[in-house]
Amino acid sequence: MALERDTVVVSYGEMGTKSSKVRGRMERTLVSNLDAMLGSRAVDAAVERRWSRPLIRLRNPEEEDAVAGRSPAAHRTSSDDAADAAADTFGVVAARPAVSCEPEREALLDILESLAGEQRSEESFAVRVSRAGPKSAHEFGSRELERVGGAVVEEQTGASVDLDDPDVTYRVEAREDEAFVSTGERVGPGGLPLGTQGTAVALVSGGIDSPVATWEVMKRGCVVVPVYVDLGDFGGPDHEARAVSTMRRLADFAPGFDVRPRVVSAGDLVAELAAEVGATRMLSLRRMMLRIGETVAQEVGAHAVVTGESLGQKSSQTGPNFGVTDAATTVPVYRPLLTRDKPDIVAQARKIGTYDDSTLPVGCERVAPSRPETNAALAAVEAAEPERLLSRAETVAREARVVEFE
Ligand code: ATP
Ligand code: MG
Repeated sequence: MALERDTVVVSYGEMGTKSSKVRGRMERTLVSNLDAMLGSRAVDAAVERRWSRPLIRLRNPEEEDAVAGRSPAAHRTSSDDAADAAADTFGVVAARPAVSCEPEREALLDILESLAGEQRSEESFAVRVSRAGPKSAHEFGSRELERVGGAVVEEQTGASVDLDDPDVTYRVEAREDEAFVSTGERVGPGGLPLGTQGTAVALVSGGIDSPVATWEVMKRGCVVVPVYVDLGDFGGPDHEARAVSTMRRLADFAPGFDVRPRVVSAGDLVAELAAEVGATRMLSLRRMMLRIGETVAQEVGAHAVVTGESLGQKSSQTGPNFGVTDAATTVPVYRPLLTRDKPDIVAQARKIGTYDDSTLPVGCERVAPSRPETNAALAAVEAAEPERLLSRAETVAREARVVEFE
């Protein structure tokens, strides 16, 4: 029978650089977010906040496996599910399914030997040991245990050591009163716990970029209120459905938070723009969207508006044009993808699972004039704009409809 991992050791990154007061607050948020994530995936576990690493304690994993009748070879245990859940939680840098034990040499070597039974001989490995607490807390030194532990694994597997790029890493983390031995580390998103950086409105078109931009600000701790602007004849129900389904996917990263999208009907304003405005049309469209975002931001207490724009990606996304669009709003506009290349954004969309829903061309493309302005002057844009465009944008924004996820 394979040795059961009863714990997942969670480590975070940047939070560690905060003052103890701020860190304590962020740790509490992280623990509550981990709890919600585990709950949303029906993983039966409790999160404990100890030292600088939260621990996920699984409830009776062995018993659970026996009840489920899972065979040790083909099993996927709750520690795998718990580690995957932690690795989808913002703020988490790594999640390691571990076997816990007394911080003693014999116990640790026994566990290393058992875990080595799961390793194939052609896989290289490394044993890494870290200790916390006073030197006297442990009867072994870190380097010494790495050496002896490495020999145990080598004997058990016949595999060779590779300290630079091992296929399997056995990590021993010894604290004063408990130790953990893990393999199969998952890499988390990093960033800061969701909810520690207030709220931002995210303009989402359902295209490839905006869900990635939204995920990026969530990663930095912002709760998002997604806003989709219905472009009327230039958009359509399929566009809205696509925007909502990408947001549904992002909601999986935010259990316990209200991230329901809002839909703003701007069809009449867009039709007017298309009929009356020439080269600067897209800029006025963007300005209208930012003002809609600002209005919703004021209503929900958000401090910024997020877009999926990237420098030079489109005619409306040149440096001078950003200046003209931003003049339509007083809240900061966050553009997390500003310097990112499209292939990189596409790869990330696939990774976070928003790509499939976002591959129809967006409505914006259909509004675009044949010769768009790339170097606009604010006065010229304002002069060509339909009367009271921005205050009418505020009016439609106040009538936003909240969409419930199925
Ligand atoms: P994506 O929307 O993913 O960026 P895209 O690159 O084809 O796809 P753009 O025309 O570049 O779309 O739009 C720039 C940004 O404007 C988007 O990233 C999004 O933040 C915002 N946006 C565009 N259309 C809409 C819309 N219908 N509703 C809300 N926001 C929109
Ligand atoms: Mg884009």
